[in-house]
Amino acid sequence: MDQPRYLLGLDVGGTKIAAVVADGPGDILAKIRRPTPAALGPDAIVAEMTDMLTEVAGAVEIGPLDAAALGVSFGGPYDPVRGVVRDIPNLPDWGGVPLLRLLSDALPGVALAIDNDANAAALAEWRFGAGQGAEHMLYLTMGTGIGGGIVSDGRLYRGLRNAGGEVGHTVLVPDGAECGCGHRGCLEAYASGPAIARRAIEKLEAGEGVEFADALRDAGIALLELKTESIVEAARDGVTFAMDHLADTAFYMGWGIANAVSILAPEVVVLGTVATAAGDMFMEPLRRRVVDMAMPGVGDATRVEPAGLGDLVGDYAAIALAVDALAP
Ligand SMILES: [Zn+2]
Repeated sequence: MDQPRYLLGLDVGGTKIAAVVADGPGDILAKIRRPTPAALGPDAIVAEMTDMLTEVAGAVEIGPLDAAALGVSFGGPYDPVRGVVRDIPNLPDWGGVPLLRLLSDALPGVALAIDNDANAAALAEWRFGAGQGAEHMLYLTMGTGIGGGIVSDGRLYRGLRNAGGEVGHTVLVPDGAECGCGHRGCLEAYASGPAIARRAIEKLEAGEGVEFADALRDAGIALLELKTESIVEAARDGVTFAMDHLADTAFYMGWGIANAVSILAPEVVVLGTVATAAGDMFMEPLRRRVVDMAMPGVGDATRVEPAGLGDLVGDYAAIALAVDALAP
């Protein structure tokens, strides 16, 4: 009888690396996590990766070379054509590192797919999460930035330089708020996690939300340290300022999504992080906005859903790539 075929995954971030092993259909069987030895440079990180794969594969009593495929979800810009990492601010020394070659040398005979974490998460939601069954899907996170990925005809749409799907950098407000990309007025400058907090701080400094500001002071939270998580929590507790602020955010996010929906006409738009945490009080106004602003006949046909994989998205992102590595 054939040996069961296992899939390996690595979710590589600036501070943590997770290694997982899954069965053929993608059910995760074991996981380990270690801090990224970022200061030691790429060679040490690749050595750590192979060491972790050996350990996690041991949980199903195989060696890493016995796995059918490895998927690597990489927390930074990656060039899948050349197989090298582009320059990354949070992992210095990685620019130009040939990750594909280093890992294929370490794991000869194991099918390998590497991609950036946003594309990999899009594939994961499509294969295992809220986008299952859709032929066309747009995935957006509202984390540190607004990451995105497009699945079209059941495949990742990569675009030039693997940079497709960056809906976060479409411009909503001419000469608007400064964005991390260097431009002004991008969706990301209004609806990423840090941008949601920044907009709230601006309102509070201007004298809005006095009760909320008082509550923060009583809790010993300095205004400049206000985090989006606290705003979402306050909104769930029924604090008017926080609820209104999330509704404003849904306005911007819905606007950005409506533009993307008019271009792509996806069956479903899947939203991670803030959208998942805030639930209906955020999703309902956002859905109305998409219907109001997207091309008539498309906006009301597109479903907008919170992500289905939650905190496990990174694990499934790596495994979704491993499944892809085996696709003909
Ligand atoms: Zn931008």
